[in-house]
This record gives sequence, structure tokens and C-alpha cells, in this order.
Amino acid sequence: MATPYREKLDKIRMAFPQPVSDRVHDSYFVHSIMRALDLVDSLKSEVPVLGPREPLDYAAAQQAQLPEGSSTVEEVTTNLVDYFKGLTIWGHPRTQINVVPPPSISSLIATVLTGLYNPNLAWDEYSHKVALAEVEAVAMSASLMGYDPARASGVFTFGGTGTTLYGVKVGLEKAVPGAMQNGVGAGAIVFASDCSHYCRYNVAGWLGLGAKNLITISTDGRNTMKIDILRDQARAALQSGWPIAAIVATLGTTDAFGLDDLEAIVNLRDELVQEFNLPYRPHVHADAVIGWAWQVFSDYNFETNPLGFRPRTVRALAGASQRIRHLSLADSIGIDFHKTGFTPYISSLVLFKDRDDLNLLSRSQEQMPYLYQFGEHRPGMFTLETSRGGMGALAALANLKLLGKEGLRVTIGHIVEMTQLLREHLEGHASTCVLNRDNFGTVTLFRVYPDGVDTFAIKDQEMNDAVFRAALLRHNDYNRKIYDYVHKEAMAGRGVVISLTDSYRQTSYDEPVLALKSFILSPFTDEANVEAVVEKVLEARGKIAV
Ligand SMILES: *Cc1c(COP(=O)(O)O)cnc(C)c1O
Repeated sequence: MATPYREKLDKIRMAFPQPVSDRVHDSYFVHSIMRALDLVDSLKSEVPVLGPREPLDYAAAQQAQLPEGSSTVEEVTTNLVDYFKGLTIWGHPRTQINVVPPPSISSLIATVLTGLYNPNLAWDEYSHKVALAEVEAVAMSASLMGYDPARASGVFTFGGTGTTLYGVKVGLEKAVPGAMQNGVGAGAIVFASDCSHYCRYNVAGWLGLGAKNLITISTDGRNTMKIDILRDQARAALQSGWPIAAIVATLGTTDAFGLDDLEAIVNLRDELVQEFNLPYRPHVHADAVIGWAWQVFSDYNFETNPLGFRPRTVRALAGASQRIRHLSLADSIGIDFHKTGFTPYISSLVLFKDRDDLNLLSRSQEQMPYLYQFGEHRPGMFTLETSRGGMGALAALANLKLLGKEGLRVTIGHIVEMTQLLREHLEGHASTCVLNRDNFGTVTLFRVYPDGVDTFAIKDQEMNDAVFRAALLRHNDYNRKIYDYVHKEAMAGRGVVISLTDSYRQTSYDEPVLALKSFILSPFTDEANVEAVVEKVLEARGKIAV
């Protein structure tokens, strides 16, 4: 007679994939996944959201208790699918919200396989050939960025934030040698632009430098860091005896696709090394988590334009490429495949031009007695993480292989094309005004005005003349109402879900400029979806009191 626990254990074993080939059980496993897909599928409709979107009850969630008994796989599946109710479908042609991509099938298979066999990239003893997948993804990305793959190296880490953390940490070790061992001492300075990602505060804070030692450099009207100000601030810091841990250049800011002038920043860095006779080279990290993908156009023939993009698209792609083609000048680069590389979260890679940089982070074998006694490849000796899953690396590799350079060109080119089309439509109406007209990315920030406003003049007036303060604030309010209407309509299956930014920029007299925002990142977006944005906005205009 089996003991009660044995009987229960048999059931639990059925809920795991079988370690030894068992075709019958395999089909149960596959069927279980299909059931989940079916259930999610039944939540789909015309609305770009899964099922109904209901208010969230956090108080009830806080009462959750571990169940006394077990459940079946089927019960848990039904329950899990329930958590997806109300989630935005990022790939839906009617979604234009933010930089969240729909993942490709190959990248999803990569995550299922890594979930299933659970390699740990800390050490090739625990990941074996999946370690090669990471090395291959690193090599492909390094050469795409223009690094020498024989000299470059990199690791997948916990997000775009992690890539900046790595870049600045390596820079800190260069500026304050031995910081890993001795602490940061009096600290060091980090520079980044005021359009750079807010993760700069985390990075400076968590590295022990302090967010107050982060110097934020202002940007020009195109969201590019002002080099003269960077030069003055860097000189001032060095004159006061501060080391510079890193200068973070952003290539593709989150909201506006601003592109810093990496070439000028690197030249400035070299100048400073000379002028102050520095014993180290201040580290230049390129936060290209969004912009990296545009590097596929660095050798695209914009003259013959073999993919047949429209002239406005070609201009935008060439304009972005002008800045992005210099990425290899940076000492390190952050890449998010989970943004413009169409993988699921988390798939972020930090690349270093010189692999010796990573040695600055190494711990000694004596500090890690239970790991790394053998094997050839041991990134865990220097990574921040101990366990490091294979999902990010394998999903990235899957998409690099699936899309190739041409597939990336087609996909990125298409979303830029749709963005340009949207701007063209918006510019075709007297009541709408595109704020970031000359921008090369896939975000469009725009405002809508009531009758009687001169939309040719208003943008400058609101931005630069305090006399227009009251009008600016009134129009902020007006645009918020437009947004509310468009959003409500989209949630009822009419139109497109866009988003809103409370402060696209500050005016010269320190008021926020609110803007409607369309962020196109779905390969499924088409002309009709772009036209629908304009139609809905005009419709809203007719319904909203001034
Ligand atoms: C999204 C983003 C980050 C942060 O990346 P996560 O992957 O969300 O951690 C950093 N920098 C820029 C420019 C970003 O757009």
C-alpha cells in the first residue's frame, strides 16, 4: 500500500514535464499550453485590451493566503489566465502607447525552452551550450555596433537600467581604482542629459555615488545634450578635484528619441584627459537601449533605397543613422532587445568595447568557494547577478536570427514610416500641431487647439512667452480632455489607444507643456490605424467645450 504522501506525490509528478521521454505526457503538456492560449484568445476583441478592464482590488489581493490543498494544472491555468484580463495587447494595430514591443514567436519559443530546461548563465557548467548562445548574441551585437568582436565582450543583465549600472560601475573603477574593494571614498561625478532616462538616479544612488553627484546637463530643442555646458561642468568638476565616473550619452531618449552627439562627447573626453593630464579616461557609456536597432541602417543605401521607403521615412532613418553610426566610439553600450528587438522582458545586453574592462569587476575565486571550480566560461565571476537565466540571451539570439539585418530594417523602417505618415496627417489639419516635427523616432507628440487659435504661431508663443501662460495652461487642460475622450472611445472599440505626457518640455517660464503622445512600435500598425488617430482627435474637438 502506498502511503498517502506517495499517492499525492504521483499527482504532483504529473504536473511537471517528464524528465524521461514520454510522448503521452508530452501531449498533455502541449495541450495544457494550448488550453491557456485558447483561454487568452477568447479574451480578444476589437479593443486592444484582453477582456474587460476592471478596477483593481489591492485590498482583497493583500488578503491572499497559501491554499491548504493542491490544485490541478487545469485549475491553475484558468486562474492564471484571469490575471491577463485588462492587459493592453501591445502588438495590436490599435495600440500606440509606449515602448513596449510585441514579442516574436521565435523569442517566445526561446523563453519557453529556457524556462523548461533552466540553464544558468553564471557558469557554462550549468548552461553548457546556452553559454554559446550568449557569446553569439554578444558577438553579433558587437559587430552590428561596429565594435571589434575579438576585443569586445558583454553580458545580458536585468534591464536597461542594469546596462547603465554596468557602464557607470566600470567607469567608477577606472576613476576610483579599487572602489569595488575599498569603497567609493569621496565619490565621483556622473554626467547625463536632462532627457536621459531617470534610471540615472538609481544608478548614482545604488552605486554609492549619491544622486546629488549626478550632474544633469540641459538639452537643446532637439533633446540633445548641450556640449558647451557639459564641457564647463566637467572642467569645473575636475578643477575641484572630482573624478569623473562616467558620461552617459543617450541615443534614443525614451519620450522623444533625442540623440546625443556621441562623437562630440568622446572628443571632449579626450580633450579633458589631455588638459588635466588624467591618469584614467573618463568612461563614456552610450544608453542606446532604444536606438541600437537603427544601427542596421548604417550601411543602408539611402540613395537607391532598395526597400522602397517613402522620402520622409528615408530622411528620418538617415537622420537617426547619422548619430547612431558613431556608437562604436562609446566604451560601453546598453541594448534592450525587449524594446526595439521584439523579445519579451527581460532581454538587455551591455557591451564593452574592451573586454578587459569587465575584469575590473572580477571577484577572486576565494570569495566564491562553492562555484566556478572548473569550466571554461564563468561570467558569474564578474556579473552582479549570481543566477542568471538564459531567457534574455536566447530570446535575443532567436530574433537576431529570425529577423536578420533585413528584417530589422523592414520592421524599424515600417514603424518609422507609419510615424511619418501620422505626422503628415496631423500637419494637414489647421487645429493640430506636431511638437517634435523634426524628430527621427517613432514617437509623435502633438497638441490640439480649439477654433480661433493660430496653430502656426502658438507653439513658439506658448514655449517662450510668459504672456501666454494662461493660454498654455488652458490648452493643457483642453488636451487632457481630448485625451480622455479618445481613450474612452478606444476602450469602447472605436479608434486607437494613445497616451499622454504631462510634460513634453518645460516652457522658458517653467510651466509644463502637456502633449498627446503616439508611440508606434507594433509591426501590425497600418495606414488605417494612423488615420484613425487623426479622425478621433478631430471628433473629440467637436465634443469638448473650450
Ligand atoms: C527604457 C529605458 C531605460 C530603462 O530600461 P529598462 O529595460 O526599462 O530597465 C533606460 N534608458 C532608456 C533611454 C530607456 O528608454
